[in-house]
Amino acid sequence: QFITFEGVEGAGKTTQLNLCADWLRSLGHRVRITREPGGTELGQGIRQLFLGSTGLDDRAELMLLMADRAQHVQEFIKPSLGEGFVVLCDRYSDSTFAYQGYGRGMDWQLISSLNQIATAGLEPDLTLWLDLDVDLGLTRARQQSQQQAMSGDRIEQEKIEFHRQVGRGFRNLSKQYPQRIKRINATTDIVAVHAQIRRVVTACLDQ
Ligand code: C5P
Ligand code: MG
Repeated sequence: QFITFEGVEGAGKTTQLNLCADWLRSLGHRVRITREPGGTELGQGIRQLFLGSTGLDDRAELMLLMADRAQHVQEFIKPSLGEGFVVLCDRYSDSTFAYQGYGRGMDWQLISSLNQIATAGLEPDLTLWLDLDVDLGLTRARQQSQQQAMSGDRIEQEKIEFHRQVGRGFRNLSKQYPQRIKRINATTDIVAVHAQIRRVVTACLDQ
């Protein structure tokens, strides 16, 4: 099973992914966790370029993400699924459609074509969309950056309207793929969000 976690900045994807992994392991599942960009050695290099480059061209940005994904799918995700692991991934294709498609307004068909090449057709069995108000999410994300004495990455510093577009992107994607994408209300506390995730994941694993 391939399960992805999606949502805007500060929605709690990483925290919830880790809780979900612990829970699935306690049930006896073999679980591997990963993220995009940055799930492979190549991807870690790409992630640094992606977050750190100033004046990154939209098309260059898109292709960096796709290169990251192509390597990730071939080197890590597919082999792990083949060995019977449940793979939990922090961001995947939906983030590209939300950020580069909705956020940056790049051509949908272009993204689809490149994504088809990058994923070799691998789609998640389930996507958990952690739905949180964009303003609240950004406040959380920026607090976190401050606590870690980081300046926040290039994307955190984008205008609020960019992030609102991304939020709309996830909402529209969930309407487009209601079977695969399940909405999780991410406004409540960590334990309550985790409980929702347990229900949705249980239903998916039982199928
Ligand atoms: O969620 P994570 O911290 O891994 O994402 C790193 C940064 O990359 C975030 O600021 C996120 O908004 C951004 N991002 C992006 N386009 C993507 C995926 C992530 O701008 N397709
Ligand atoms: Mg971030």
